[in-house]
Amino acid sequence: MLELEDALARILAALPEPADERISLRGASGRILSEPVLAAMDLPAFDNSAVDGYAVRDADVAGASSESPVRLRIAGRVPAGRIFAGELASGSCVRLFTGSMLPRGANAVVMQEDTRVPAGSSKEVLILEPVKPWENTRFQGDDVKRGNVIAQAGDVLTPGRLALLAAVGSTQVQAGRRPVVGLLATGTELKEPGEPLASGQISESNRAGLAPLIEQAGGIVRAFAPVADEPGPTRTALELAFDECDILVTCGGVSVGETDLVKDAFEELGGNLQFWKVAVRPGRPFAFGQKERRFFFGLPGNPVSAFVTFLLLVRPALLRWQGAADIALPSVPGILSETLTNPGARRHFVRVRMEAAGTVRSAGAQASHVLSSLASANGLVEVAPQTMLTSGTTVRVLRWE
Ligand code: AMP
Ligand code: MG
Repeated sequence: MLELEDALARILAALPEPADERISLRGASGRILSEPVLAAMDLPAFDNSAVDGYAVRDADVAGASSESPVRLRIAGRVPAGRIFAGELASGSCVRLFTGSMLPRGANAVVMQEDTRVPAGSSKEVLILEPVKPWENTRFQGDDVKRGNVIAQAGDVLTPGRLALLAAVGSTQVQAGRRPVVGLLATGTELKEPGEPLASGQISESNRAGLAPLIEQAGGIVRAFAPVADEPGPTRTALELAFDECDILVTCGGVSVGETDLVKDAFEELGGNLQFWKVAVRPGRPFAFGQKERRFFFGLPGNPVSAFVTFLLLVRPALLRWQGAADIALPSVPGILSETLTNPGARRHFVRVRMEAAGTVRSAGAQASHVLSSLASANGLVEVAPQTMLTSGTTVRVLRWE
């Protein structure tokens, strides 16, 4: 039985070099950059005001106070997006707003709150406070310098990065191609959710949980109808699915029973099975293989086993397919508010509920068919074999939401 890290290393080693494509920044959220992005301009692009107020020369208002205000002539009014054509002369000011370009000659901005409009004059303003040189201004290039690398190959296009790229005028980037990921559930007992169930049948539920996880990891989902545990139909379903996908994820039928036909079907189709069984709980029966340039992940059928092994072994593969630098599940520290015990011989990834305050407790029963605890879980905590983590222990919580 493989250790988790060895299984992941073998998967990553088998994957092809990421391919990329040119994409519009619109709709690029979550995509992975395949090239660095250089800033095409400075940010801010020009010196400008950080407040609504008046551009001044600091020397003109050095002695200003509310008792003895300094009276300045208003030489112009510059809303954001306009410019002041001339140069600011001593004894005058220019009315500015947040983001207005600083006029030549000005070296500070007095906040509107530190001024008063004199009775009977709209052409003048009373300054009630002095300013330091460059107070309330924002310098050209203080955020980003033209030519700087503002995003690296392998970075995720997060909302923050998209905003930065838009600010320097980018409209398109090179991004890793998304894999088309087939999702095939196997099991004679499985019916489409909502269909009437005969005695012994169940509603197929794994695809409902796995499809959004695939999408979160950047995959394009192709869901196929459940297939019965019979050799011919299983082979045909796998063959049709492989035709349409870069990566095929199956669930069920990879264990040791005589109705577990998926590995055999994969090999009969010419697939090269690279490993089977990983030393984790929930999980264990987990198959990985390659068929020419397509990849096969055979997840266990038990709903929680399928979900957790996807997070541990398939999610990183989908991210690496697209060239992501960071493929590990996000993890945060938390403090156990109850004891977690693993009496078994395999590493146990326990479903937990982490509260906003950082406390972590078991999400409920941990058997691999128990969906209610998966539904309320928002993290996993690894507990080593034959280990007890007592209440109060700081743990790393793996998150996927
Ligand atoms: P298997 O791995 O095929 O032996 O399935 C293990 C358990 O998971 C059995 O109880 C199956 O009925 C159940 N199971 C398998 N596939 C699914 C699925 N797609 N949705 C819900 N339960 C499943
Ligand atoms: Mg089965």
